[in-house]
Amino acid sequence: MDIKTILSYQETDKKLYQMEQSLAKDPNKQRCNDLNQTARDSQQKSSQLEDQAGTVLRELNELKKNIKTIKAHGDEFLGSDVEKIDIEKIDEAIMKKDRISSNITALDKKLTKLAENINQILAEFNRTIKIYNDAKLQYQKFKSIYDAKVKELEPQMNELKKQLLVLEKSVDPKTMEIYKRKRNDRIFPVFVQLHGNACGRCRMELSASAISKLKSEQILPCENCRSIIYFN
Ligand SMILES: [Zn+2]
Repeated sequence: MDIKTILSYQETDKKLYQMEQSLAKDPNKQRCNDLNQTARDSQQKSSQLEDQAGTVLRELNELKKNIKTIKAHGDEFLGSDVEKIDIEKIDEAIMKKDRISSNITALDKKLTKLAENINQILAEFNRTIKIYNDAKLQYQKFKSIYDAKVKELEPQMNELKKQLLVLEKSVDPKTMEIYKRKRNDRIFPVFVQLHGNACGRCRMELSASAISKLKSEQILPCENCRSIIYFN
């Protein structure tokens, strides 16, 4: 394997890799990701709240209907001619009246509770919308800072990519394929020199048999960090 050409390719690629890393780890970009998540969460929350509000409104309408029916019963009862009520049925009539009025009281209480629920949901909904809007606004701010950084690095990165395309032509295709696969997995540097008896990247000590294998085959993938150790 021609280590020299791939190392010179890697040297140029290192600059590109560092720029890519600096963009990937940019705090503004991280902030954008977090804010995106916040916006998504609040969207989900507001749709949950809409569902809750729908349920409570349905309960409320059902309750209103019940109250109306009971009140109608009550009116009908109270409207009946008292003179005509059988004296023996007076107690029963009083009990019926009490039952109706306590039913109405209970339903009224439930109605108040449901109205409170709706107000709570509405307040929560407004809070959620505010969180969503704030997140969107903040996102724009951090996004524009990040975009400016991308715009600044882009010409250098494009130039490096052009150089790499030229350098690639002198690298053995099989080596290039290994290199690109490792780099895609964010293993960088891909090729590292043997450092004493250890991997030049992660410094894991190699066994005696691994060392002799490396010496005979010239390269050996590190079992720990998956870089390719070379020996020369
Ligand atoms: Zn290693």
